[in-house]
Amino acid sequence: MRKDIFIKIGTLLIVIFLVSCSSKPIIPLYEYPTDWKNINEREKTILDYSKYLYGRKIFLDPGHGGEDRKNKNSKGDVIEADVNLRVALDLKKYLESAGALVIISRDKDTTVQLGYRSEWSNKSGAEIFISIHHNAPGKTEDDFTNYTSTYYHAKETDYEYEPSDHDIARYIERDLAYVMGNPGGLGSFDGTYSDYNIYPGEGFSVLRKKNIPGVLVECAFHTSHFEELRLNNEEFNQIQAWGIFRGLAKYYHAGKPEIDFLPDSLRLDNNILNASFVLKDSVGINSKTIQVYFNKEEKEFTFDKTTNVVSLKIEIINPGTYPLRIIAANKNGNHSFPYRKNIIVDDSLKVNLTD
Ligand SMILES: [Zn+2]
Repeated sequence: MRKDIFIKIGTLLIVIFLVSCSSKPIIPLYEYPTDWKNINEREKTILDYSKYLYGRKIFLDPGHGGEDRKNKNSKGDVIEADVNLRVALDLKKYLESAGALVIISRDKDTTVQLGYRSEWSNKSGAEIFISIHHNAPGKTEDDFTNYTSTYYHAKETDYEYEPSDHDIARYIERDLAYVMGNPGGLGSFDGTYSDYNIYPGEGFSVLRKKNIPGVLVECAFHTSHFEELRLNNEEFNQIQAWGIFRGLAKYYHAGKPEIDFLPDSLRLDNNILNASFVLKDSVGINSKTIQVYFNKEEKEFTFDKTTNVVSLKIEIINPGTYPLRIIAANKNGNHSFPYRKNIIVDDSLKVNLTD
């Protein structure tokens, strides 16, 4: 009889325990961005941003896929290749709704060689390359590590570094991390990182081999015990895509300087090369940001603030091919796209500027 009571009480306690477990309040895993949750608001935002995105050609690269599906969480139910693809396809939809032209390196679970991704973007005519990934812990991180990071190629002090990559990274990182409610990690002030942090002196292959501006986004850690609950949710993937979309639109909204060569200015007189370039930007050029490199060395120049013309006078003794590079930022802080040309001086000391 007494044993019976103990069994009954025990059973009751187990039932109470199970009920209390199942009735735990559902933790909201994410919030709806205010300009996304309501379809009218969403369409209005897309229409607003179409002013900056219409006709832009964007190359999207969902990482991995096909034979490369090994990156996953510990339970094996969140596969990086699949999450990357869902986010990229949602982003494609938003960009196309705003009038952008999108080229995507894969639109299904298929193998695309790493080298081919950047090679394709280079010849695609796209102006920006965005590679979409999710992260896994490094040596000092664990299954609870989670942050949003956006990578640009090289370090600020390297000749390879293009500040326009870093500008794009900042805009995408800010809006993506914001909609996901994630921090940007402690290894960087604003969540943007040089890819040399991962592969010193080399960076990510897709970023090193591309020659158009671009970034690699590690949206979050698919290995995180928190994040894995959200990444297989298609609605959340749409929100991730919205963050990247909004960041890119705001980047274009801030504008960037265009650099035009003035062909009549090019001549070589008594071994002095003369060349001029006009800088164009609707919000104005920040003259303090202009840099000119000739033969990979920084050179002096003059800048006329009324005409926005940069003029060079550089001594050239020998015929040869000399790389020329110009950088300038506008008053919103956005830098010109890579301006890398060659000045060719032939044996008869005739001079030409080529791509
Ligand atoms: Zn990846």
